[in-house]
Parts: sequence; C-alpha cells; structure tokens
Amino acid sequence: MEADDLKTIKIKISKSLQTKIRKGHPWVHFYQVKNISVKGRPGDYGVIYDPDNRFLALGLYDPLSDIRLRVLQTGEPAELDAEFFRERLQRAAGIRRSLESQGTTGYRIVNGENDGLPGLTLDRYQNVGVLKLYTQAWFPHLEKIVPWIERDLKLTPCVLLFSRHVERTLPKNAPYQNQTVLQGSAVDGPVRFLENGLHFEADVLQGQKTGFFLDQRENRQRVRELAADKSVLNAFSYTGGFTVSAFAGGARSVLEIDSNPLAMKAALENLKLNFPDRLEEGNGFEQIKGDAFKSFARLEREKKSFDIVILDPPAFAKSKKHIRNALMAYTRLARAGAKRTRDGGILFAASCSASVKANDFYRATLLGISSAGKSCEVLERTGHATDHPVTFSEGAYLKGIYCKINASQPG
Ligand code: SAH
Repeated sequence: MEADDLKTIKIKISKSLQTKIRKGHPWVHFYQVKNISVKGRPGDYGVIYDPDNRFLALGLYDPLSDIRLRVLQTGEPAELDAEFFRERLQRAAGIRRSLESQGTTGYRIVNGENDGLPGLTLDRYQNVGVLKLYTQAWFPHLEKIVPWIERDLKLTPCVLLFSRHVERTLPKNAPYQNQTVLQGSAVDGPVRFLENGLHFEADVLQGQKTGFFLDQRENRQRVRELAADKSVLNAFSYTGGFTVSAFAGGARSVLEIDSNPLAMKAALENLKLNFPDRLEEGNGFEQIKGDAFKSFARLEREKKSFDIVILDPPAFAKSKKHIRNALMAYTRLARAGAKRTRDGGILFAASCSASVKANDFYRATLLGISSAGKSCEVLERTGHATDHPVTFSEGAYLKGIYCKINASQPG
C-alpha cells in the first residue's frame, strides 16, 4: 500500500481516555474504540476529535494490533509528511548527541513512543542503523523516514527488523521482509561499536533485541566504577557487556553464567577485543554454560562467594498474568544471589519486565535477600538510560537496585 492510498478514520473513545491522550498517553487499545464497526488497513490515519468536534489527536491505525491507534500528534493537526518525520528524528538524535563524546557509538536514537515515533525504534551501531518495527502501520510511511536515516543521521547500511508480532501477522504480499537492508550494502557479520570507550560487537541480524542490551549501559558503567580489585559473578551475562566493564574497572575476576552458547561465544570475542590476556587460563575469567538457578546451586555446594553479584535475567513476566510468578522468581533469584555475595559485597539486581512495577520488584528482591538470612543496605535504585527516555508510565520497563549485603542476621 502506498502512502497516497491511505484513508483517514475517525476513532471514537471515552472522555477519560481523551484526557489521558491530551496529557501524552500514546495508545488506544482495541477495547477502547467505541465505534467498533470502524474498518481500516495498517497505516491508515486515525483521528480523534474532542466532544466539541475539535481536533484532539492523530496517529497510525493498525487493525492487526491490540493497540489499535498509536498517537503521533496532539494539540494542533499536522501533516504526517517527510518533514514531520525528519523533525522527530532530529529531535531524538539531539537528545543523544553527548553520548558520542563519551566514547559511545552504540546507542538508541529513537525509543518509540517516548520519542514521538510510537511502535518504532532506531539503534545506532557505529555507522549501521537498526530500525525495528512493532506494528505494520509503519509500512506505508517508511519511505518518508528512511532517507533521513542515511542523509541526516549518516547511518548506512540500515537493517529493518520486525517484532515477533509483526512477523506473526505478516501478509504474503508484504512490502518489506524481516532483516531487509533498507539502504547500503548487506551486513555480513557482527558490527563493531564503542560503549564508554570499550569495544563490542553486535550481531544485529540474529542477536537478541537489536544485537546488544544498549539499555544497560549506565549500569555497566556503574559496575565498572565499583569493580576495582573485586571478584564478580555476572549472571545472565549474554554477550558479556558487564564482564568487559568490570575488567575495565580493574576487577580481579569475572565468572559468567548464561544458558545461550552463542551469546557466550560472542562474549569471548568481546573480551578478546578489550582484554585478550584474560582469556588465558588462570587469568580470572570463567564461564558456566547453563541454567542460572542450577548454577547458583552448584556454586553454593562449592561454597563460592563474590564481591559483586550481577543478576540481569530476561523478562520473567511477558504479560500481566505472569506477574505473580515473576515476582516469586525475582525473590528466588535474589535469595540465591545474596547467598553468593560476600558480606560487605554488592548485589545488583535488574528487571526488564514492563508489567512488573518498580516497587514490587524492589520488594521482591529485598525479600529474597532477607530470606537468604542476610541484611542489606540499599545503595541506589536505577531506571532508564539517557537514550531510553520514558514519557508515559507503560513505557517504563527497566529497574535496577544496588544492595550492600551485610553479615548474616543473628538467629
Ligand atoms: N546482562 C546482559 C543482558 C542479559 S539478557 C547484557 O548486559 O548484555 C538475558 C540473558 O539471560 C540472555 O543472554 C539469555 O540467554 C539468558 N538466560 C535466559 N534464561 C536463562 C537461564 N535460565 N539461565 C541462564 N541464562 C539465561
């Protein structure tokens, strides 16, 4: 479907949702649409009027997504032309400009709804762009965005990735395919980039997220600052971002645990790029390939403990119905982690489950620590990095907590 064929659909919603949208909420879910007979195709324009029939919001419609409308513009009407999208991209890029001077060339340029481009993220890995879509509504509008990615942001090649939902609902005659290179030459192999002056590689085609967990950059830097002369346990290590950061901060040793052998292999490559001597046996680096919970049990049998323990698991709650189980898992993990943290050491626990509220996660973690028979002092709670801004409550997913673990409580 070309941008010219698009229809404009009037979407009716409750007054209370209108108020929310006026204040910046970017979504209308399918069950919130009052004129249920409304029909449209992904990428059609959806417009909302207030009770006095004045313009309230404009967005992109998607009948295939639970989020029926993603709002792009409120207040004044606007034409969603190339200039509109260019302005949004430039504003988003401006917020991140200082990262490059800090030695970071891998970061998120567009964080979806939080940067006024809902359902779309754009990551930079040096000169390579990774544009990820969470709705097919973007298909007929991509031609208005993609040229700026090369011209203004100097990202070429630019790879297109789809979320699982987009992949699942893709029609046979879709104008784009997952992993298409939108401009520039094919990406063959991992892409190198810098994070706080350290070297990394990301597999932007096959890796998790867009190849690297860019959202944890500030926590990795924090661990680097804490790591001098410390022994570190990096659980859920993926491609070793926390490991390299810990060694950069002078860590004595790092033990990684992850169940994904490909990620562990990539972690070796990342370590080699920065501290190749650490790969020699006896030089303070080891990996355990396998389940973290089982590995913690093994470390307990071996009576091993560490100065810093990092717990950065995948999202335990994929949706609201999993929250209870997720909180129990966070507690169980914190308990295992606290047991392996030396008295006076630091436990860092993170959660990337969007449906788990920050306070519930902190409570679950602290419960785990106390159930391990340890007391603790909360040093810091952290949230989103500068390149992952949050402008609405549902957009907040990442939370972290640093706890100083103290000697076992008496009795
Ligand atoms: N800390 C990482 C990101 C972690 S992503 C970073 O900074 O880059 C979560 C990781 O947990 C993934 O690498 C995944 O392979 C791993 N994982 C998932 N379930 C696991 C389990 N049960 N045991 C060990 N690792 C697991």
